Amino acid sequence: MRIGCPKEIKNHEYRVGLTPESVRELTAHGHEVWVETGAGMGIGATDIDYQACGAKIQPDAKAVFDGCEMIVKVKEPQAVERAMLREGQVLYTYLHLAPDPEQTADLVRSGVTAIAYETVTGPGGSLPLLKPMSQVAGRMSIQAGATALEKAHGGRGVLLGGVPGVLPGRVMVIGGGVVGFNAAQMAVGLGADVTILDRDPEVLEKLGIYFESRAKTRFSNKANIEQMICEAELVIGAVLIPGAAAPKLVTRDMLKCMKPGAVLVDVAIDQGGCFETSRATTHADPTYVIDDVVHYCVANMPGAVARTSTYALNNVTLPHALRIAEMGWKAALRANPHLAEGLNVHAGKVTYKAVADELGYEY
Ligand code: NAD
Repeated sequence: MRIGCPKEIKNHEYRVGLTPESVRELTAHGHEVWVETGAGMGIGATDIDYQACGAKIQPDAKAVFDGCEMIVKVKEPQAVERAMLREGQVLYTYLHLAPDPEQTADLVRSGVTAIAYETVTGPGGSLPLLKPMSQVAGRMSIQAGATALEKAHGGRGVLLGGVPGVLPGRVMVIGGGVVGFNAAQMAVGLGADVTILDRDPEVLEKLGIYFESRAKTRFSNKANIEQMICEAELVIGAVLIPGAAAPKLVTRDMLKCMKPGAVLVDVAIDQGGCFETSRATTHADPTYVIDDVVHYCVANMPGAVARTSTYALNNVTLPHALRIAEMGWKAALRANPHLAEGLNVHAGKVTYKAVADELGYEY
């Protein structure tokens, strides 16, 4: 199969659909890979790196879209990209169609076969193509929080790990799933005093077994959050209720008892945020202050570490890309029901129920 990888054009998107190493894997299996010139610049991969792995460099996106049977990307196609898609072509990328009627209409009109990373499932209903980004965001949340705690960034001036003779900072992680677990790992690694709150007893049990005495666990309810938030230097919001907006677990009123210069990092901001005072920010201007509490609410945290994020994403997307290339999309989806869950649009129809229901398409 001829597979195409255009340069990402969404604002501030530095990741790329295929790493040179992924190209190497595809070409080693006998496939042809066309990469737009400069596609890997955001992760420090040059055209020469791609060529060394067997890619054919193309002068622009049009050449890639026109010439390839499957397009592998990171972000949803932008309007100019959607205009280049065609019937019979496979598009394999993040799509997030439910809140995006314009994109959905364009994909339907194009006749493309669109497989969305975010709805490909794994065993037990997991979402393995979303997981690496949660791992990245969870780990980054502590880095971002530690920076925001510095005086120059408006913070309290606390070093999370403390030093001999001075107590470490108190970190409260609300939500102990993928983001929360990874945040706790980083905070524990720095030597902070870490407590993870969740409302699922099984999650709490697993965290307790993993962290033993290195982190505490606590049931998540209003009283416990109210009590702990007054003592925390850094609070990480990492809750998720699948398919719903994040619950507002920290109210504006609760901020009053927080220490001046304490930091809230709301990773759940992409679901509306779990702090009442959260509003989405960007990497260019990531923080703001309300009631002396520093808020960090970047909706696309993994974008800041594009290289790590691209490699983490490719680790999970490449096996399916290889299968689609080997077998053709129809046979690959028939052979793997988890991959079949990824099919969102095909031949002018919305083929994913939740998207069809949300946007009023026939399913
Ligand atoms: P997850 O499903 O793995 O974990 C969510 C956890 O929240 C679960 O353990 C659940 O039991 C817990 N939870 C639900 N309600 C709770 C409550 N009231 N109190 C305490 N815990 C509660 O989800 P995840 O992959 O860790 O993602 C967490 C959030 O981070 C999501 O909103 C996700 O979209 C977001 N995210 C944001 C970025 C970013 O760049 N900002 C990147 C990746 C993920």
